[in-house]
Amino acid sequence: MDLDIDTVRVARTREDCVLLPGEAFLGGGTYLYSEPVPAGVTGLVDLTGMGWEPWSVDGAGLRVAGTCTLEQLVSGPGALGAHTGGPYRALGLVAPCVSALTLSAKVARMATVGGNLALGLPAGSMVGLFAALDAVAVIWTRGVSTSGGGSRVVAVADLVTGAGAVDLAPGEVLREVRVPSAMLAQRTVFRRASLSSTGRTAAMVTGRAGGQGPTITVTASVSAPLSLRARDHAAVDRWIDRLDSTGAWFEDVHGSRDWRAAMTRQLAHEALDELAGT
Ligand SMILES: Cc1cc2nc3c(=O)[nH]c(=O)nc-3n(C[C@H](O)[C@H](O)[C@H](O)COP(=O)(O)OP(=O)(O)OC[C@H]3O[C@@H](n4cnc5c(N)ncnc54)[C@H](O)[C@@H]3O)c2cc1C
Repeated sequence: MDLDIDTVRVARTREDCVLLPGEAFLGGGTYLYSEPVPAGVTGLVDLTGMGWEPWSVDGAGLRVAGTCTLEQLVSGPGALGAHTGGPYRALGLVAPCVSALTLSAKVARMATVGGNLALGLPAGSMVGLFAALDAVAVIWTRGVSTSGGGSRVVAVADLVTGAGAVDLAPGEVLREVRVPSAMLAQRTVFRRASLSSTGRTAAMVTGRAGGQGPTITVTASVSAPLSLRARDHAAVDRWIDRLDSTGAWFEDVHGSRDWRAAMTRQLAHEALDELAGT
């Protein structure tokens, strides 16, 4: 992989994360090094040098660093969620959501959660994972001082605003994602469709049970995540009908609008059935 840039700086402190003109952040580099250099970018600032703990869990919930690799996410929180019915059963969503990315093991070893969220691609399954778990993203705002600087919090469901568009101002760092503890023991569901078994995800439905009823989240078939508190199948149909009438469906080589709409409807009904235990 060869990128035509002038500098790579390894960030070790928060002050190092203040971008100079022409600089962009580097996570695992699996996107940046597989595409032409973004316009105007002449240097990279490697966030993996910050040495953040990839993930941790305590009474407040789960925290996942922006630099946590997809491999670390699966072997850590994903493994916690592998025990059906345990206190972390919601994390059973981790492994299928990582598998929903069309990444080889080699790429998953490098690709980061922060890079996936910051790209905001419709097939960015970290969005569907963390939106379904009602997670928030902690964002370091630009222009920090030595005393710590600012940060803001945005719901992951609101972070992606369109295909490849995110609520991240230039120079802002996606520091971590936080999943509230109340979510960790919830039952969750995962459904996915793509044109071929190894193809890019074209429709993804993630969801969770909950005291106030099931919530399902749709990604990949729409430009930005959409969630519904799904009381029953009629509510799902009304919601999908509304998306049909507003032309909400995303289209690219990985699936037409009509097909994605039909698949999303089917997957949403299946998800609701599973959450209802039928
Ligand atoms: C074969 C292959 C298949 C792929 N399949 C998919 C797929 O199915 N779905 C999908 O969504 N992507 C896919 N990708 C793209 C990419 O690999 C993933 O989205 C990956 O998760 C990006 O993470 P990264 O750490 O490598 O990001 P990088 O390449 O390092 O960075 C990506 C972007 O995010 C910014 N960034 C990185 N970290 C942060 C941070 N913490 N804060 C702020 N900005 C940050 C960078 O400046 C850059 O703009 C694929 C890539 C390859 C090579």
